[in-house]
Amino acid sequence: MMRQIREMTAERTRQNEILQEKVSAATSELTQKNEQLENANLELFRATRKMSGMERRAAAGQTAAEFAHEVGTPLNLISGHVQLLQTNFPKESKDATRLQTIIAQIERIEQIVREMLDRTRFGASEHPPLNLNELLQKTFDAVEPTLVENRVELKIDLAENLPLVSGDADRLQQVFLNLVNNALDAMPAGGKLEISTAFNANEVAVEFIDNGAGMDTDTSGKIFQPLFTTKERGRGTGLGLFVVNRILHEHAAKITVESEPEKGTKFKLLFQRI
Ligand code: ADP
Ligand code: MG
Repeated sequence: MMRQIREMTAERTRQNEILQEKVSAATSELTQKNEQLENANLELFRATRKMSGMERRAAAGQTAAEFAHEVGTPLNLISGHVQLLQTNFPKESKDATRLQTIIAQIERIEQIVREMLDRTRFGASEHPPLNLNELLQKTFDAVEPTLVENRVELKIDLAENLPLVSGDADRLQQVFLNLVNNALDAMPAGGKLEISTAFNANEVAVEFIDNGAGMDTDTSGKIFQPLFTTKERGRGTGLGLFVVNRILHEHAAKITVESEPEKGTKFKLLFQRI
């Protein structure tokens, strides 16, 4: 009896040991596979992130170039025919004048297309790497005295280790200055301007928050239109935010606005990380 029990116990211990060995072998294999999977995931994540940024910029440039090319070709043809037609009419006749108007308008379109092609050539992807924190700091140094003079308190919160974006420093400084100027105009009796940066896996964000006059939704829906201004003649051109939007567009960046009358306004800029 005792011997039988001893034998059974020994057998169970052996079975247990075999099982444990199998489990630990399987576990180590699983751990290894898991590690491989994690690495693959990371690689995939890095690759897609790099590609999406680059591809988006390339695609934007490509579309603009194709569009300019497609429009340019028939325009050249039209302009050639109109010039031929012009020789059929006496110089001072009404028809000749009309044709002259058509030619002038065609030239205007050609100019727009040329500019579009130029911009494509020096497109977003060819802007050098840029640290937005440094550029913002430079902008503050420039505007600080004006802010103090207007009793506007500046609160700055720049994220550490902010990733780079590709950008034209001069053009983007123009963007920041426009936003600061608008905030100043919205706080004639002084106030607070908060500027911050942040980032996630794909994007770098810059926020401008003021506690000035704010806007209703009807107004904020129009602010990016050229020549839209609520300011009196001589004070506003209505071109500031139109230019801001255009420059950001050239950088494949986006701008959004949130505002409430009497409360203030928040502009949020989103750039693609490089
Ligand atoms: P401008 O400053 O010459 O009027 P902008 O294009 O810079 O032209 O701005 C258009 C309009 O958007 C302004 O007239 C104003 O009504 C509104 N706006 C822009 N920024 C702000 C802001 N921070 N607070 C309130 N309103 C603003
Ligand atoms: Mg303005």
